[in-house]
Amino acid sequence: MKAKRIEVFGKVQSVGFRPFIYNLAKKFNLTGYVKNKTSYVEILVEGKEENLEKFIKDFSKTHPIAQIEKILIKEDHIRNLDSFKILESEQTTPDFIYIPADIKICDECIKELLNPKDRRYLYPFINCTQCGPRFTIIEELPYDRKNTTMKIFKMCEDCLNEYQDPLNRRFHAQPNACYKCGPGLMIKDNNLKTIFKLTKSAEDVEKVLDFIVKKILEGKILAIKSFGGYHLVCDATNDDVVFRLRKSKNREFKPFAMMAYNLDIIRKYSYVDKESEKLLSSSQSPIVLLLKKPNIEEPRISEFVSVESNYYGFMLPYTPLQYLIFYWLNKNNKNIPLIMTSGNLSDEPQVFKETQAFEKLKDIADYFLIYNRKINIRCDDSVCRVFNNDVYFIRRSRGWSPEPIFVNYNFKKQILAFGADLKNTFSLAKDNYVIVSHHIGDLDNLDAIDSFSQSIEYYLKTFKFKPDLLVCDLHPLYESSKIAKEFAKNNSIECITLQHHYAHMLSCMLENGIFERCIGVIFDGTGYGLDNTIWGSEFLVGDISSFIRKAHFEPISLVGADISIKQPYRNALAFLYKEYKDKKLIKDFWSFITNKLESKQNKEISFSFEEIFDSIKFLVENNINIVSSCGMGRIFDIVAFLCGLGFFNYYEGYLPQNLEYIGSYEFKEIKDEIYTYEIKYQDNKYIANTRLLLKEIFEDVFFNKKDVKKISAKFHNTISKISVEIILKIREELNINKVVLSGGVFQNQILLFSIYNKLQSFGFEVFIHRKVPCNDAGISFGQTLGCNIYV
Ligand code: ZN
Ligand code: ZN
Ligand code: FE
Repeated sequence: MKAKRIEVFGKVQSVGFRPFIYNLAKKFNLTGYVKNKTSYVEILVEGKEENLEKFIKDFSKTHPIAQIEKILIKEDHIRNLDSFKILESEQTTPDFIYIPADIKICDECIKELLNPKDRRYLYPFINCTQCGPRFTIIEELPYDRKNTTMKIFKMCEDCLNEYQDPLNRRFHAQPNACYKCGPGLMIKDNNLKTIFKLTKSAEDVEKVLDFIVKKILEGKILAIKSFGGYHLVCDATNDDVVFRLRKSKNREFKPFAMMAYNLDIIRKYSYVDKESEKLLSSSQSPIVLLLKKPNIEEPRISEFVSVESNYYGFMLPYTPLQYLIFYWLNKNNKNIPLIMTSGNLSDEPQVFKETQAFEKLKDIADYFLIYNRKINIRCDDSVCRVFNNDVYFIRRSRGWSPEPIFVNYNFKKQILAFGADLKNTFSLAKDNYVIVSHHIGDLDNLDAIDSFSQSIEYYLKTFKFKPDLLVCDLHPLYESSKIAKEFAKNNSIECITLQHHYAHMLSCMLENGIFERCIGVIFDGTGYGLDNTIWGSEFLVGDISSFIRKAHFEPISLVGADISIKQPYRNALAFLYKEYKDKKLIKDFWSFITNKLESKQNKEISFSFEEIFDSIKFLVENNINIVSSCGMGRIFDIVAFLCGLGFFNYYEGYLPQNLEYIGSYEFKEIKDEIYTYEIKYQDNKYIANTRLLLKEIFEDVFFNKKDVKKISAKFHNTISKISVEIILKIREELNINKVVLSGGVFQNQILLFSIYNKLQSFGFEVFIHRKVPCNDAGISFGQTLGCNIYV
């Protein structure tokens, strides 16, 4: 006979962990108790030693959604308890507040959902302690029903019995509901005319599903309410409707995410490795980027779904309602994937309130499938891919936020970090954890900026967080910086500013637990530098209290700062003019790529060479409106333009992603081929010159008519070669062997793969992002560590 006290940390609350432990203890004949403490679950068990061991082995493995971060096991004295009990929660450290993320519908609930004898047959709001909405329905804490948007629904007797029974799967399942007592569905058309009134029975839901499936198959666009906001939904195999969606959403090129009934259907269209399968099926249920298969399986996916990309973004149904729609399609023998893209106008935030939805989406959607359970806070779908058998985030939001990320670091203050202006998130840091907000988005429109401020307010209130230090980006014109400074003034809190790429570096260091001096390779589009110029191809050397800029690529000229990011042909023309000074040559080249592009994209370029060239020449010669930038993204822009891939970045990173796309299959063949470059050493810094490289690319495209796929591969190879050479020089000079890779350009799989592998072969310890995105969504996480300089 022995007794043990076990403390379990991680995602173990609000997921049905206690009933699970109860049953496990019974199985092994153990007595004792389990209870929720504020930041962990405490278990006391006593019984035969071998049973205790089996118990411990089992509980850390078999729970479907708990994610155990840490287990502390201590011997305890024997009390000869006669039973195993679930005890009331105990608040030990009142300042640790945990808000669970939304969870995909669980298998048990699916079984009930599809069982005609179950009282919740086809009930679109079925949930239990192991699944359902959480974060998006919580208005305030503690997480009790009365503090959620479910408060207006009074549980019926049956539901209440489940809710109060410690052994029931719905014990304290706050959104618990059924036909009798819970929310229902409604359908309206785009004139707001009600097509179906609130559903109250399985028969009602059947009618709604019949209608929805019929409309999807007719090629209609639907706005469907999900956990964290509205989706625009249509048949992904129907060219006409997908094209119409692109036009009306004003989103010409960015790939649309899709949802499919099950993994088999996803496998028809894309390659699904073991890790991707795990992610797709996980309780977080993110969009996973998967390599496309040749599009030959019927029904074929419309070519408008994902243009100029090697990937499809797929996810599996995660709300009961989504599941039912696919189930119904399946019953109709239509196993088609559906477009499931966020309901918004181009880059605005996803809408999540009915009034907003009608106002913003009525010209896009034909019908609205809504319900009367309110969403309290917006939460977009998460997006990720697999790199080296592990998750690599593009966007970390639904399913993860706002759960804390535990770190190997002790924050001495409560820090609020405001992030950057693109792909914004903000972060709260305290003790040994960081709460990174859900995806806020680009702070370039009023809705997004409002949502940013309101979300900060909500988080501070709900997490009872009292920041005593603020941190924001160094960029004085960032909205996030302005709001941070305003907040600092209004609340008399100190606000420090942190250089953008250093924040990227710290982000990767913090999640990997590296606090000593290392090399940070930070490639991204734009970031404000310490010398007031634009940085973005940085080799920083630093630790958590300071950094130096040890190397970078030579700046190129941007013609007009912000506009040139969306219209990078301006920078390319400026480059060609400076190098060749030959208008006729450049004009011939312009016609060459214009023709190429017009035949490819099937549309005319609407402006003339003469106008553009003369104005750019004038600006360059008189040095007006010219900004210099080291952004790696800008070099990719020019190369993409030279390869004839386009004139515009239709969305952030469009041209660079396109360049990656065309080069990816050739890359394996390219081996040692590289373009010419120079690395200079001046003022204690290495500077990589890309002038010759860009000229050679121009000549390869225009004079030598080489295949642009090969050119792209060779270009990627060169950038990787330059980077590794610089890192080797830095190691030799400063004797540092740890390298962190961060910045949005490391979404580029060729570059990430190639630099990562080369560095490893040279014996470097290389660290990449696994917990937050490498792009600007990870900035706020890194900023929290930057405060260290001052505290
Ligand atoms: Zn469930
Ligand atoms: Zn009920
Ligand atoms: Fe950045």
